[in-house]
Amino acid sequence: MALEVFNTLSNRLEPLQPLEDKRIRMYSCGPTVYDYGHIGNFRTFVFVDLFRRFLRQSGYRLDHVMNITDVDDKIIRNASQRGVGVREYAEVYERAFFEDMRMLSLQKPERIARATEHIPEMARLIARLERKGFAYRTEDGSYYYRIASFPEYGKLSKKDMSGITDGARVDVDEYEKDNVRDFALWKAPKPGEAQWQTEIGPGRPGWHIECSAMAMEYLGETLDIHLGGEDLIFPHHENEIAQSEAATGKQFARYWMHVRFLLVEGQKMSKSLGNFYTLRDLMLKGHKASSIRYLLASVPHQKQLNFTFDGLTQAAHAVERLRNFKLRLETGHFPAGDTPEINALAQSTREKMRVALEDNMNTAQALAAIFDMLRESNAAADAGKLLRGDVEALQPVLQQFEEIFAVLQDDDAEKTRQVLEWARAEGKLADDTAALPKLSKEEVEQKIEQRQQARRARDFVRADTIRRDLEQAGIILEDTKDGVRWKYR
Ligand code: AMP
Ligand code: ZN
Repeated sequence: MALEVFNTLSNRLEPLQPLEDKRIRMYSCGPTVYDYGHIGNFRTFVFVDLFRRFLRQSGYRLDHVMNITDVDDKIIRNASQRGVGVREYAEVYERAFFEDMRMLSLQKPERIARATEHIPEMARLIARLERKGFAYRTEDGSYYYRIASFPEYGKLSKKDMSGITDGARVDVDEYEKDNVRDFALWKAPKPGEAQWQTEIGPGRPGWHIECSAMAMEYLGETLDIHLGGEDLIFPHHENEIAQSEAATGKQFARYWMHVRFLLVEGQKMSKSLGNFYTLRDLMLKGHKASSIRYLLASVPHQKQLNFTFDGLTQAAHAVERLRNFKLRLETGHFPAGDTPEINALAQSTREKMRVALEDNMNTAQALAAIFDMLRESNAAADAGKLLRGDVEALQPVLQQFEEIFAVLQDDDAEKTRQVLEWARAEGKLADDTAALPKLSKEEVEQKIEQRQQARRARDFVRADTIRRDLEQAGIILEDTKDGVRWKYR
């Protein structure tokens, strides 16, 4: 078996065959840094991270570029409302984005490219398009892409291009499907707006040209994979194809992968519905970064992910079970020897996880395999039948799992503390207890038991970490000679 991915361009599953054996050139659309990232954004970014990790686990060398859109209509509007420069404005949210990436254990792509640092490359690409007759300049000094000159326009979004009006234009960065028009490549300067002096004159780039210019700058004229959320299929990615392929005469990206939009409680997330959550909102409500990552990772990227608070609680339990299992393997006492059943279970779980992810990244199936293993191994351990050799066979399976899912390492309390600190500094907290993680009685008792186990195993670092986690959650522990007593602060 080999990795198969669903390609939006061909509209079917295809075996992934990179241009160069074992090397992948990949571009994913990054954030527009005009605000804090929301969980919909992070559904896409978590998927890109899982995919990255799996490609590396499968032995590919990765060249992955992600852009930071630090100039666009929204940033310009917000910056001017706040009375600051575009760079000054975007910087805050760019930094926040990197912190959020760390919260969610997202690996950094090999290269991060800021739009404002690639303006000359964009201008050069526009000049090339104009020379070839695919772009035209308007009187004010703006440039537009002439879509009638590119007969393949619509091949990604499967949009029927008959009936388009040659010369009808749209100059906003984002627009709807029924608005197929010549789109802005370059916008002439407006008073008070950021502008750059370039070989095609003064002004600023449109959003779509950014990604074409930066992707080709670092990855060459033909990339293997291009990824993003499904909202980007039209117009953004359709326009990227038109710009790049018209300029080079070559295929731009061979595989296009898109992540289905996340819904919240069954509805599209929106500020007006009150169901709009940034990562930070959720962490300030006491939800752990690991639960959020797990929940976003648990639904395959082309399936509908309906975010609910129940789902988030279940995700927290799932992570807790996995961590408990890992701890049990690390600290339990197991007799010498091994059993063929557990060894076979370990091998088949490794295989099942790999096969699941090779199937267009079926994360749900991979999780099902690891939980089957956990159940059977726990049952064996409960019956006193798990042996030391078995443990040694199971641990690498957890390792293989962790390389992709990255939720076993427990640094949640520290991450929550950092978000709290940020919120306090920003004056976003009504009172200090508002953001305490809410642990149920069962969860507290489970944690206390884990701490006792750690102490018995003389793992005092772990025991101390658990005590601090509990403190952070507003739980006060008292060690008495009759055992541990606790209360909510
Ligand atoms: P933006 O910062 O708006 O450019 O979006 C960054 C990434 O998040 C893009 O790949 C979008 O497609 C993706 N995205 C935005 N909203 C959602 C959502 N509700 N579900 C999944 N992905 C989303
Ligand atoms: Zn893009």
